[in-house]
Amino acid sequence: MTSSAERGILWIISAPSGAGKTSLSRALVEVTPQFRTSVSYTTRPARPGEVDGTDYHFVEMAQFSEMAERGEFLEYARVHGNGYGTSEPWVKSQLFAGMDVLLEIDWQGARQVRERLPGQAVSIFILPPSLDALETRLRGRAQDSDEVIARRVAAAREELLHYDEFDYLVVNDQFETALADLRSIVHAEHLRLGSQQHAQHQRLKDLLGMIH
Ligand code: GDP
Ligand code: ADP
Ligand code: 5GP
Repeated sequence: MTSSAERGILWIISAPSGAGKTSLSRALVEVTPQFRTSVSYTTRPARPGEVDGTDYHFVEMAQFSEMAERGEFLEYARVHGNGYGTSEPWVKSQLFAGMDVLLEIDWQGARQVRERLPGQAVSIFILPPSLDALETRLRGRAQDSDEVIARRVAAAREELLHYDEFDYLVVNDQFETALADLRSIVHAEHLRLGSQQHAQHQRLKDLLGMIH
């Protein structure tokens, strides 16, 4: 049987810039061995300390456009004036290998994934405790210019407007609480029938065999 039951779960995490999705995703992946994080392609310049191939695949717009035209992206979108896209072959290979794949993408990308793979993705929206906290975090991260920070805070409202398109809402006020919420979601989703039918295949066979 080669059905979705043999695949890992596709996770989408979205949030306004600065809400903490990168920190939370990293922490979640550290404690969840079956998770793999998709490394997006982007046309934005690398921030200090960011590593090509680890944080992003940093590419020129010409290469990004070619990839988009060849249909290599599961989704792509323009965010804060830059192109961002998710590699479709990579995501599919990981899912078929039984891994859970985590996409840290914006609401436009989340929408495209839901349309392309209906019913296959579980999406989580991270809320900041307040807009003031968001700005404080972006400044505290100390990696963007004042102009970029101002643009990202202004864009936060647009991202926030789409919170109700997601399956789960998590508030990242206390980091450890938000991480525990994410772990609960992951745990519960793995107990759903589709996942359990695969994970408990032998047990179900034994149990049903006993009955018959
Ligand atoms: P403009 O030509 O400066 O208005 O920019 P466009 O948004 O039209 O993009 C130019 C090229 O970039 C097109 O070939 C698109 O396929 C490509 N492109 C690649 N990634 C993105 C993206 O994330 N968003 C948008 N809007 N275009 C992208
Ligand atoms: P995003 O990926 O959503 O842009 P980051 O994960 O880079 O956000 O987080 C933005 C900044 O906020 C980082 O400096 C991070 O250390 C900090 N941060 C994340 N979560 C919290 C939290 N719960 N409380 C305080 N600071 C946080
Ligand atoms: P940052 O530059 O702060 O890492 O990310 C900026 C925004 O781009 C965030 O909202 C993030 O979710 C989004 N983003 C990052 N990678 C992708 C991607 O592959 N696809 C889409 N659609 N958005 C992405």
